[in-house]
Amino acid sequence: MINYISTRNENDEKKTFSEVVVEGLATDGGLYVPEDCPLISAEELEQLQDVPYIGIAHRVILPFVEGCIDSDTLYQLLTKAYSNFDHEDIAPLIKLKDNIYLLELFHGPTLAFKDMALQFLGLMFDHILAKNKQNLTIVGATSGDTGSAAIEACKDKDTLELFILHPHNRVSDVQRKQMTTVLSPNIHNIAIEGSFDDCQDLVKKMFNDNKFRQEMNLSAINSINWGRIVAQVPYYVFAYLKLRKTIGSDKVAFSVPTGNFGNIYAGYIAMSMGIPVEKLIIGTNSNDILFRLMETGKMATETVSSTISPSMDIQISSNFERILFDLLGRDGKSVAQIMQHFREVGPFSLNEETMIKLRNIFTAYRFNDDETTKMIRDLYNDTDYIADPHSIIGIGAANKYSSKTDFPIISLATAHPAKFPEAIDSAISTPPTTPEKLSKLDELKEAFTVLPNDIDIVKKFIQENK
Ligand SMILES: *Cc1c(COP(=O)(O)O)cnc(C)c1O
Repeated sequence: MINYISTRNENDEKKTFSEVVVEGLATDGGLYVPEDCPLISAEELEQLQDVPYIGIAHRVILPFVEGCIDSDTLYQLLTKAYSNFDHEDIAPLIKLKDNIYLLELFHGPTLAFKDMALQFLGLMFDHILAKNKQNLTIVGATSGDTGSAAIEACKDKDTLELFILHPHNRVSDVQRKQMTTVLSPNIHNIAIEGSFDDCQDLVKKMFNDNKFRQEMNLSAINSINWGRIVAQVPYYVFAYLKLRKTIGSDKVAFSVPTGNFGNIYAGYIAMSMGIPVEKLIIGTNSNDILFRLMETGKMATETVSSTISPSMDIQISSNFERILFDLLGRDGKSVAQIMQHFREVGPFSLNEETMIKLRNIFTAYRFNDDETTKMIRDLYNDTDYIADPHSIIGIGAANKYSSKTDFPIISLATAHPAKFPEAIDSAISTPPTTPEKLSKLDELKEAFTVLPNDIDIVKKFIQENK
């Protein structure tokens, strides 16, 4: 059985999988990581060659949950989690051009890659809580994609009450409707009269209020939850095996449009488990903290700017702390010091030795909105493929890296283009075909409550509606 430790492990506490999933963030402020990374041998990879997605996910996830979820239950949860995806491969791999392939991760109910993790995490949460006879109130802020994926994942679960805060009139129509048309009694949409940052501040304030937190049994399913990371590892293994079967390459690079570093960190775990990954390529929009870190060795935040790839408009890539922990020889004290300095004082620099290790595994490219729009247009003209403004950033990074490698590159496509009609419209004249899931939203009834940006009013609403 694998134990979990915090990246700031000051008190050497060890936790089980169930505990880290329910807790989310460690009490010392760190993120949970497995004490040892399980491995998949080359022979085993050989045996997994023709296994479908669910079977691979089962093999990849089982060692991480052993002792908490038995093998059969895991298989059932996975089967159910991916039963409402609209492609038989769950995550189809397609050839884009030359040596660049695309792994489409947007075939779930909300048409963005967050379904890959949250559909599974919702079921796992429910399973663990029901077993422990517990209930949780989950509170989250969203600028769009995460909210709808969390709502789809948690709807109709008796053990969970979900409150999602979104900025009133500042999410797209499609994004709002994807959230507010889910009329399940345990789902509560709150439109805050303020910005996304205001929503996030309100959530933080609730978590910092220990009395309220305990009274409500508050939890989060944001991207720092280990349960989300672990559900994202299988598609790296699946894509590697598919490509190896098609073209026989024994090594691949992955290119990932990155915000909070959760998706690409899952690729790092796949690599740690034994998948032969040549490079993990980070693609960012103008919120480029990771690009600047790779260039300069310095981690420094700037103010967040709004882009046409809003799900990557993040300045602090939380999951980077997990990489830092490994880079610093798993020394929790050093991580705690650096993170405290980062929060209270400001920028920190990594030394040359650490940067060499980091650059061995990762490389990064950055694109502004004009470049993003142009890349959508160029790709469409070259290949007829319409990529959404997030996926195209991965593709752009893959293009740039392709001259530097002999290995094929798998670029991760994280959203369906129909979710971002304005961005597509400004790039090309052909609109993407709208999947039925989106077109039928217009006929559905919406429900949400508008509240002022006032912590006491929001808390009261949650207490009364829980
Ligand atoms: C969340 C999201 C991303 C960024 O993923 P991270 O795991 O935060 O790096 C990229 N694209 C889309 C469409 C997303 O919803």
